[in-house]
Parts: sequence; C-alpha cells; structure tokens
Amino acid sequence: MAQSRMNPEQLAFQEHCRSWLRDNAPPPPSERLPLTPLEVMTEGQRDYLVEWQGRCHEAGLVGCDLPTEYGGGGHEGFQRIANQEMARARTPFLINIVGLSMAVPTILVHGTEEQKKRFIPGALSGEDIWCQGFSEPGAGSDMANQQTSAVRRGDDWVVNGHKVWTSLGHFARYMILIARTSKDHKYDGLTYFLCPIAGQAGVTVRPLVKMTGESGFNEVLFEDVVLPDSLRLDDVGKGWKVAMTTLTYERGAAEGAGGGGTAADPTAKLVALAKKTLRGGRPASEDPVVRDAIVERAIVAEGIRLNARRARVEALTDHPMRLPLQSKLLSSEFTQHDARLGVSIAGAASTLYKLDPAAPDSGRWPLSYMNSYGHTIAAGTNEIQRNILGERVLGLPKSK
Ligand SMILES: Cc1cc2nc3c(=O)[nH]c(=O)nc-3n(C[C@H](O)[C@H](O)[C@H](O)COP(=O)(O)OP(=O)(O)OC[C@H]3O[C@@H](n4cnc5c(N)ncnc54)[C@H](O)[C@@H]3O)c2cc1C
Repeated sequence: MAQSRMNPEQLAFQEHCRSWLRDNAPPPPSERLPLTPLEVMTEGQRDYLVEWQGRCHEAGLVGCDLPTEYGGGGHEGFQRIANQEMARARTPFLINIVGLSMAVPTILVHGTEEQKKRFIPGALSGEDIWCQGFSEPGAGSDMANQQTSAVRRGDDWVVNGHKVWTSLGHFARYMILIARTSKDHKYDGLTYFLCPIAGQAGVTVRPLVKMTGESGFNEVLFEDVVLPDSLRLDDVGKGWKVAMTTLTYERGAAEGAGGGGTAADPTAKLVALAKKTLRGGRPASEDPVVRDAIVERAIVAEGIRLNARRARVEALTDHPMRLPLQSKLLSSEFTQHDARLGVSIAGAASTLYKLDPAAPDSGRWPLSYMNSYGHTIAAGTNEIQRNILGERVLGLPKSK
C-alpha cells in the first residue's frame, strides 16, 4: 500500500508496527530456523516461533482485521500493513500458517458464535497450532474422493481414515478435517470438522521425511476417533462448500488473519550472493549473463507485486478468480526459478549443505531449491491451477 494512499489512522498504525518491530526484534534463535513454517521440526524451533507469534499478536500485528471479541484488532485493512511491515523488518515467519490463513477465515465464514469464540483467539496467539487434513493417499488433486469416514453415533461422530502430507500435524492441537458422511453423493457426502489432534484418543501422527532430510509433514491415522457434533463446521453434507472457502484463502485469493507478507525485495538475496561469489576472479555480479538473469527475476517479482495490488480493485479484473489463480501459479514458479538461479550463481559451492560451515548463505540455496518443488504441488498442483484457469476463467472445453 503506497504511503500516500493511507489515511491518518493507517499511517499511525504503520508507524506503530515500525516502531514496535524496531524495539522488539526477537533474539537470534538458539537453533537454525527452517525456510518456511512447513518445515518446523524441533520443539526448540516451535517454542521460539510460538513465542514470537504470541508477542506479535499482543502488539496488535496479528488478527488486526478481526473483531475484538475473537481476539482481533477490529480494524479492517490493517493486516496488510502489518504484513508489509513484518516483511520489511525481515522478522521470523508466523508459525501458525494453517490457523491464520485457512482455519480462522473458514471459521469466521461458517462457524457458530461459540466456535468463533472458542477457536479463533488461540489460533491468533499461536497457542493452538492448526493443521489441514484434506489430502489422502487417493485424494489429492481429486479432493472430493475422500475416504476418511465420519459415522453418526448419537451426539457424536466416529472417524476412521488416513490423511497424508499434513504439514505441522506433529505440533498441531487442531485439524481442519474433511470426512465422508455419506457414500451416496460424492460432493454432498462430505462434512467439515474442527478436530482435536494432540492427545486425542485414536489419532496417530507419523512424520514423513523429505529429500532435504526435513520432516515438516506427516501422515495422520484415525482409528475410531470420537468427535462431538459441536465440532462440526456448518451443515452435514456441506463440507465441499466449506472446503472451497478454505481453498480460496489457501491459494491466496483472499487475505487471512496474518503473516502473509512477501519479502520487501525478493531478489535482494540473489544480488547479495552474486556480489560475494567470484567467477574467474571477478564478482559474479559483473557477469552480464548473471546480471541479465537477476534483472529478469526482478521484473517478474515486480509483475507479481503489481498484480497483487490490481487484484484488490474489482474493476481492474474481468473474472474474480483470474488474478488469484495466476498469482499462485506465478509465485510458486517464481520461488523455483529464484532458487535455481541461486544454486547456479553459487556454482559448485551449492553442493555444500546446511551443516557445512563453508556453504554460501548457510546452505540456503540447495535447501530452497529442493523445497521449491513442493510449492508447485501444495495447495493444488500447478497443472490443476492451469486446468481451472483454462476451464473456468478462459472458458475452454473441459479436460478429459
Ligand atoms: C509441501 C507440501 C505441503 C502440503 N501440506 C498439506 C497439508 O498440510 N494438508 C493437506 O491436506 N495436504 C497437503 N499437501 C498435499 C497437496 O495438497 C497435494 O499433494 C496436492 O493436492 C496434489 O495431490 P497428490 O499429491 O495426491 O498428487 P496427485 O493428485 O496424485 O497428482 C499427481 C500428478 O498428476 C497431475 N494431475 C492429477 N490430476 C490431473 C488432472 N485432472 N489434470 C492434469 N494433471 C493432473 C498432478 O498435477 C500431479 O502432477 C501438501 C503438499 C506439499 C507438497
């Protein structure tokens, strides 16, 4: 948001964010933090990040747009400012990404008053970490193919099934869960629940290890897990519709409750790397091929930034899903190209991994390169995004 476009109240809030972040920079973590919340592995990392989110929430930088009765700040439009300032100050990320970007907005739209008061404050403070139980071994792109079942028993539901790729499941207190409550209807047979995970009888969480050696996501098994009906979100059989609300936020089509800021200058790290890496005795930043590649990245980054601004003005887009879907595609591919360029600039040194003291930028580039492939898969693969863009936005014939 350009400074000149802000009203006095927004400017005062921006100043509050800046001065608070300046005076309250967190101490360096005692152990290395991962690149994103999806790879938080240890209790030490978790505790450090939960504490940081709690402090940001207390200072009014999280949940800014939400009503005060749910622990929010009650000022619509302030979250974007807080996100920008957190990104500018290069603070640690907010750990509760699923809670802030998906669970909270979905509960706000579909929850009862009691559910809003019970679940939203803990998600904002980071005390209650959330995970997302949508994907299953046979239900990824075909999300409606859910086999996890919830069977009614009096006032309760009994859940059995197997979720997979559950980011943060190992630290989560709650899961947003889709389960099949009827086999007779594919879409209308799904129901959405707010399911306790930590310490819940019948729930087993098993970490999955990625090629980076990190274990940010898990499989979660449900064996006769009993959920009271009060944990159902919206009507029985309306799970697909509720899940679409979650996906709208997950794919970035709408702003969540905090922490979604992008780095103020996404190519700055590449420039710094090129300046300190020698090629033929000269800094790589003097190599015209490297310069050209970095400038190309900067142009794409600027395009993504301007598109994000354009997406907020309804009159500037012909279809409400065009820019959000494009943005998810472009941003995930940007991350991949950015990491690939970093690896190529670092050259042979990028074979040194994160524990090697000689690794450029503490091994950031190979780690980022390997993790970047997850970005074009998570939240719906880019092939699926292209199908949706083609069919629903461009009006092309449906793929077979
Ligand atoms: C880092 C990461 C974190 C994740 N975190 C979570 C999480 O917290 N919770 C959760 O529920 N899920 C999570 N996921 C899972 C993610 O949502 C799924 O991986 C994704 O939806 C794809 O499903 P799949 O892996 O089953 O692949 P599949 O659906 O089996 O797809 C395999 C390949 O086939 C292609 N394909 C499939 N159907 C079509 C089609 N109709 N047209 C063209 N191509 C097609 C896909 O694009 C893909 O290339 C995460 C994934 C990653 C990578």
